[in-house]
Amino acid sequence: MRTVSLRLRVRGAKRENDNALGETVQTMERRKRRTPNIERPTSNGKVYQLSTLNSNQLLFGIVQGATFDDLRRQSAQAIVDLDFDGYAIGGVSVGEPEEEMMRAVESAEPFLPEDKPRYAMGLGTPPQMLEMIARGMDMFDCVLPTRLARNGTAFATTGTLNLKNAEFTLDERPIEENCVCYACSEFSRGYIRHLIKAEEILGLRLITLHNLHFYLDLMRQARCEIENGTFDQFRKAFVTGYKTRDVDLTERI
Ligand SMILES: [Zn+2]
Repeated sequence: MRTVSLRLRVRGAKRENDNALGETVQTMERRKRRTPNIERPTSNGKVYQLSTLNSNQLLFGIVQGATFDDLRRQSAQAIVDLDFDGYAIGGVSVGEPEEEMMRAVESAEPFLPEDKPRYAMGLGTPPQMLEMIARGMDMFDCVLPTRLARNGTAFATTGTLNLKNAEFTLDERPIEENCVCYACSEFSRGYIRHLIKAEEILGLRLITLHNLHFYLDLMRQARCEIENGTFDQFRKAFVTGYKTRDVDLTERI
C-alpha cells in the first residue's frame, strides 16, 4: 500500500515538474513572438529567446522539483541550459520539514553556475538564511520580518521575542541591545508593548522597522564574515545561540 502511494506521489511530482518546465518553455516562446532580440540555443537543439522588457532587469530561471533529488537535478540542468541571468530555487519553505528543504537546495546547487546569482525563494528564519548561504545561496525574499512584526514578534540574535507578553511590561531595554535602528534607539520594549496593548499601530510599525533592520544587518554581517573567511564560525555560533527555531511560520496576518 505504501509502495503504491509513494509511486503515485513520485508520478504526481514528475507531472508537476513537467508542467513547470512546460510553462517555462511556453513563457519563453511567448517572449520570442513578442520581441525580436537575442536568441540562445539550448542543448536539445531548440532555440529560445531570453530577454527582459527593461535593460535594468535580470531574468531568472526557477528550479522546481519538490523534495525529489532527481527532479531537482533534472530541473536545474534544463533551466541552466537556457542560460538565464540568475537562478532561483522555488518550491521550498512551503511546509516541508527543514531537512527536506535543505536537501532540495543541495540537490540543485551543484548544477547552478558559480558566476551567476542564486536566489532561494521565500526564505526564511535567520538561521535558515545562514544555512542557505552556507549552501551557496546569494539572495532571499521573505515575509517573516513584517508578518511576524504585525503579530507583535521581534527578531533578536537569541531568537524571537513576543512583545505582547506580560514579562516585557516594565522592561526598559530596547528590543535588542546595540541595535542602531530607530525603534531600538528611541523606544523601550515596555513602551512598545504598551502601544500594542493600546492597539496603537505605532507599536507594530516600530517592530517592523526593527525586524527589517535586523534581517538586512544579518545579511551585511554574513557578507563581511565571508570576506574575512570566518563565515562558518559565525554561522555555527549564531545558529547555536538562536533559541526559537520552532517559531510558528504558518501564521497568516
Ligand atoms: Zn532595532
